[in-house]
Amino acid sequence: MRTFSCKCGERLFFDNTKCLACGSLLAYEFETDQLHTLGESANKIYPLGDGRSVRLCQNYVDYDVCNACIDVQQENSWCIACQLNETIPNLDYAQNLEKWAKLESAKRRLVRTLLKLNLSIKPKTHQSQDGLAFAFLEDQSQNPDVLEVNVMTGHHNGLITINLAETDEWVRESTRLEMGEYYRTLLGHLRHESGHYYFEQYVLGSNYLFEFEQLFGDYRKDYEKSLNDYYEANQTSYDHENFISAYSQAHPLEDWAECWAHYFHIVDTLETAYAFGILKNPSSNDFFSQQLSDWTLLTVKLNELNRSMGLEDMYPFILGTNVIKKLKFVHQVIDPMRLPKQ
Ligand SMILES: [Zn+2]
Ligand SMILES: [Zn+2]
Ligand SMILES: [Zn+2]
Repeated sequence: MRTFSCKCGERLFFDNTKCLACGSLLAYEFETDQLHTLGESANKIYPLGDGRSVRLCQNYVDYDVCNACIDVQQENSWCIACQLNETIPNLDYAQNLEKWAKLESAKRRLVRTLLKLNLSIKPKTHQSQDGLAFAFLEDQSQNPDVLEVNVMTGHHNGLITINLAETDEWVRESTRLEMGEYYRTLLGHLRHESGHYYFEQYVLGSNYLFEFEQLFGDYRKDYEKSLNDYYEANQTSYDHENFISAYSQAHPLEDWAECWAHYFHIVDTLETAYAFGILKNPSSNDFFSQQLSDWTLLTVKLNELNRSMGLEDMYPFILGTNVIKKLKFVHQVIDPMRLPKQ
């Protein structure tokens, strides 16, 4: 993630809503990747000083769970990230506003990387059934008053469902330990689930499918049985040469989604390191090799920094030869999107 600066010169960050130095209201615009310093508004319309004007996303105005703005020329009341919401948490329960805000913050970061990588984002509607949507649902494990007995975090036909319980740190951390995972985050969930959606968009039915099957295996393998077998075996150890995580072993599509999420972790974290001057900007034209060598350099430093604080390694993963081939494949699927369309 890059950093931004306020009109007063103060350094700003992606999630900021107010400048701590001058008190100005801030709003992020996805389309230009800018965090704007806003002045006085007339009828809730903020002139940017370059002839354009923006208004705040409706979820910023009504609930303060978004910090985005949209060009007034656009007809939408919501930013591109909020337009993807199919179901938001039930706000009759006071604690759900805070949970929703955590999810929106992670979703904005996902959407910003999707745009940065030039991946197509279209909201799922009756007219465009192949679009993307999010449902944030609560089940009885957290709230006995709701109807849903069990909500599974997952993806189905463009709809990404996240169980609201995942916003609870205690739940998330105990599940992480139980599953033997190195990390478990909201952003990680969203990146992983988006991988399932983009598999259907870009790999399924494309020329990439043959190479996919060479690397990951048969995507038609019985999904439900594979997942049941995986959970039953409670397999927390894995072969680092071939898999990026224990969960990757569950099914070829899970392996793909884990690699996709990992690629996003690398791309976003490297961007942050370049923005802060921790790494020099890429010099090589071989983008994947450059990323990989920068990533190795960076993660050694990150782990040592954490150890200095008595913390666990920030990056406990091992990138085996076959894992690198899988990450390279994800890169090959995504990278052509960045080229200007003919
Ligand atoms: Zn300022
Ligand atoms: Zn929004
Ligand atoms: Zn999955």
